[in-house]
Amino acid sequence: MDEKNIPIRTYQVCNVLEPSQNNWLRTDWIPRSGAQRVYVEVKFTLRDCNSLPGVTGTCKETFNLYYHESNEDRESYIKESSFIKVDTVAADESFTQVDVGDRIMKLNTEVRDVKVTTKKGFYLAFQDVGACIALVSVRVFYKTCPLTIRNLATFPDTVTGADTSSLVEVRGSCVNRSEEREEPKMYCGADGEWLVPIGGCFCSPGYEERGGACKACTAGFYKARSVDPACAKCPPHSYSLRDGATVCDCHTGYFRADSDPASMSCTQPPSAPQQLISVVNETSVVLEWAPPRRLGGRSDAIYSVECLIFGPGDRSISNSQTCLPCGSDVLFSPSQLGLRTTRVVVSELKAHTRYTFTVHARNGVSRASGAGSAPSVSVSVTTNQAAPSPVSMIQVLDVTRHSLLLSWQQPDRPNGVILEYEVKFYEKDQKERSYRIMRTFSQTVDVTGLSPLTVYVFHVRARTAAGYGDFSSPFEFSTNSDPFPLIGEGVNSAFLLLSVSGVGVLLLISAAAFIISRRRSKYSKTKQDSEEEKHLNPGVKIYVDPFTYEDPDQAIHDFAKEIDVSSIHIEKVIGMGEFGEVCSGRLRLQGKREIYVAIKSLKAGYSDKQRRDFLSEASIMGQFDHPNIIRLEGVVTRCKPLMIITEYMENGSLDAFLRKHDGQFTVIQLVGMLRGIASGMKYLSDMNYVHRDLAARNILVNSNLVCKVSDFGLSRVLEDDPEAAYTARVGHIPIRWTAPEAITYRKFTTSSDVWSYGIVMWEVVSYGERPYWDMNNQDVMKAVEEGYRLPAPMDCPVVLHQLMLDCWERERAERPSFSQILNMLDKLIRNPGTLRLGSEVCVSVVPEACVPEWSVYEWLQSIGLEIYRETFAAAGYNNLESLLALTHQ
Ligand code: AMP
Repeated sequence: MDEKNIPIRTYQVCNVLEPSQNNWLRTDWIPRSGAQRVYVEVKFTLRDCNSLPGVTGTCKETFNLYYHESNEDRESYIKESSFIKVDTVAADESFTQVDVGDRIMKLNTEVRDVKVTTKKGFYLAFQDVGACIALVSVRVFYKTCPLTIRNLATFPDTVTGADTSSLVEVRGSCVNRSEEREEPKMYCGADGEWLVPIGGCFCSPGYEERGGACKACTAGFYKARSVDPACAKCPPHSYSLRDGATVCDCHTGYFRADSDPASMSCTQPPSAPQQLISVVNETSVVLEWAPPRRLGGRSDAIYSVECLIFGPGDRSISNSQTCLPCGSDVLFSPSQLGLRTTRVVVSELKAHTRYTFTVHARNGVSRASGAGSAPSVSVSVTTNQAAPSPVSMIQVLDVTRHSLLLSWQQPDRPNGVILEYEVKFYEKDQKERSYRIMRTFSQTVDVTGLSPLTVYVFHVRARTAAGYGDFSSPFEFSTNSDPFPLIGEGVNSAFLLLSVSGVGVLLLISAAAFIISRRRSKYSKTKQDSEEEKHLNPGVKIYVDPFTYEDPDQAIHDFAKEIDVSSIHIEKVIGMGEFGEVCSGRLRLQGKREIYVAIKSLKAGYSDKQRRDFLSEASIMGQFDHPNIIRLEGVVTRCKPLMIITEYMENGSLDAFLRKHDGQFTVIQLVGMLRGIASGMKYLSDMNYVHRDLAARNILVNSNLVCKVSDFGLSRVLEDDPEAAYTARVGHIPIRWTAPEAITYRKFTTSSDVWSYGIVMWEVVSYGERPYWDMNNQDVMKAVEEGYRLPAPMDCPVVLHQLMLDCWERERAERPSFSQILNMLDKLIRNPGTLRLGSEVCVSVVPEACVPEWSVYEWLQSIGLEIYRETFAAAGYNNLESLLALTHQ
């Protein structure tokens, strides 16, 4: 009977009085159905051995759960030895009496999980070794991440992975009527929760997102592009009658140009330009007009000017009273077509001629409207008399020592009857200081009385009743038939050469000046920077980059002590570094007691660069002196192999150490470790040193759980490679630990170290879990870029996760400094209540409620102040409660 006195069936065994029990109960074959990890929930009751009269040591209070994977769904006999043990299950509750009348049923529920990946199904078995037990029910299930829609992508019901930390990468498919924005992806976590949505879809044109689906825009609305967030109302003078419009149609009489966006109102062509006036000036006309009364709702009106010529003076045309388009010799300023201004100057017209000018207005929809000619306004003018245009070309027909025979063409536009030509000339060397004039009715002139071997400059102009036209441009001819060695327009080669070389010299000088000034400014900037920095941290030593030394050996001698190899005693290999083995051993220096050390050596066959890189770590480490920075004891450079000797850290690197001791520390102890790391990092940042590779694997732990920052190798790797983030060398960047700005544009600063510190916090609190689990680097970068941040690890106090999130602010200026982090951690350690799981802050005044099982000594130890144990005890601080009375003084 169960608690409600309803009969239930159970499997029972209670052979508590007989020794050596080994009773098995086996399930039928259970198909795996694609599951990789199954959960077994067992409900059972168990009798307390003490309550059974007369039992000896044979009575047990546990049973064992086993499984056996198999493809056979009907195995008749399975050997005990082929079952694998899942766990020994004990009862949380056992009962002492079987009093049917007033029975309190103590039903236990235990859940175990087991990885089943090799066969199609499995059997479960229960082994009793002498308990008094009743098995009430066994429920076997597996977990899935349920079908879901995220960012308009559907993710199917997905079976979780085989391991408790594994993530299953799932690609989503865009929901109906949507398009991919960026490949939609999510991860299915082991507990059936979806994690880290990346990418997603957009609703197609004509559709918008409503309740996780894409719904058609209703009549009167439209959506033109998938990237538009929602359907919008049709713009003025347009409509949509059907659902799902991607664009709205224009009302009759309204149009849309090809280049008009769908969001723009429908518009009309302009009306005609207004108030066209003309001013005639000899053979030019200035036309001016006012914009059309109706611009049609657009601002892109342009004008074109049509020019027609009538024929007074030209009998054939005037007789027929026709007009023709003006020739191409008529000039329009600024232009004839595509005018945005409302003024144009028309020149080079014929004198005494009638013209008609028509100004047309058009805009972006003139063509779309299909109207034949654009609305226009016209004016007719008659030009006045005008002087002839200049003679365009002078030729020499004959040359003697003292004369030149010249000829020319009539001007293009004589604008009347040419009465005579005037020829002006002078010796080129004389310029126009003294010139001579000759007049002639013909188009030739024989200029005589010239000096031999002399260059002369000639200009010709024509005269009509309207007066003289302009002189032609200058033409040069020499009285010598041998050509004068001219280059270009009066520039001789010697000058050219000189000027070319002169420009070259000038360029050289200015380039040199530029380079020098750049160098100077860079130098002075560096100097200034470092001076400023020094000013910011008065009295603090500034780290010196050993790569600024021309001679790496000099850097090593400045910062590291040379150790005689005979004082080192190597004992065993403890790890593998980038340059070779890492060993532990002992070091006995004269006059000092023997200490344990770690010895890194540079493997044989190294290159110069490897030697330099290897020793640089020592040159960097040697500059630091802080309890949370690994201490350099010295180097061996005088004999081979080269060695770097550091203090020995018994517990090795922090990540491996935490994995080994999963779940074994109190939160305060973990925070104590983080405090140490923050303190070391504060010291480094005060010295202007940027670590670039801060990660739990680069923190070493000693036997007192003191954490020290190590690995000063990466700081230079990317320095001179601007392409680093985009090339194969990106492999050098520890992506999961590195701030986004450092990955994308190599902005490595103390703030990017703070980001890495946040990741280290996460590693520590999750006992060495891999940040972002088994996501690949590309996905990590994308997720972080999209604002995803690592969730709080299991059992992580809210305050600590908040501090991590602060370290992972996108804007680096918003991240806390190491000094702020240190203060915060100190505060947490001083008020351990704040670290209570899940709660914002522990408000209990009873300290035990906040810190279970924690002594004053342990507390001091966690903050590295255990030497004050006696002082505290002497002052009467014996329990945590008394600590609450501590004041600042
Ligand atoms: P590293 O080349 O500095 O990454 O060192 C490689 C491995 O050697 C580390 O992961 C540690 O396990 C070990 N190791 C390095 N230095 C020390 C040290 N000072 N004390 C103890 N183990 C060390």
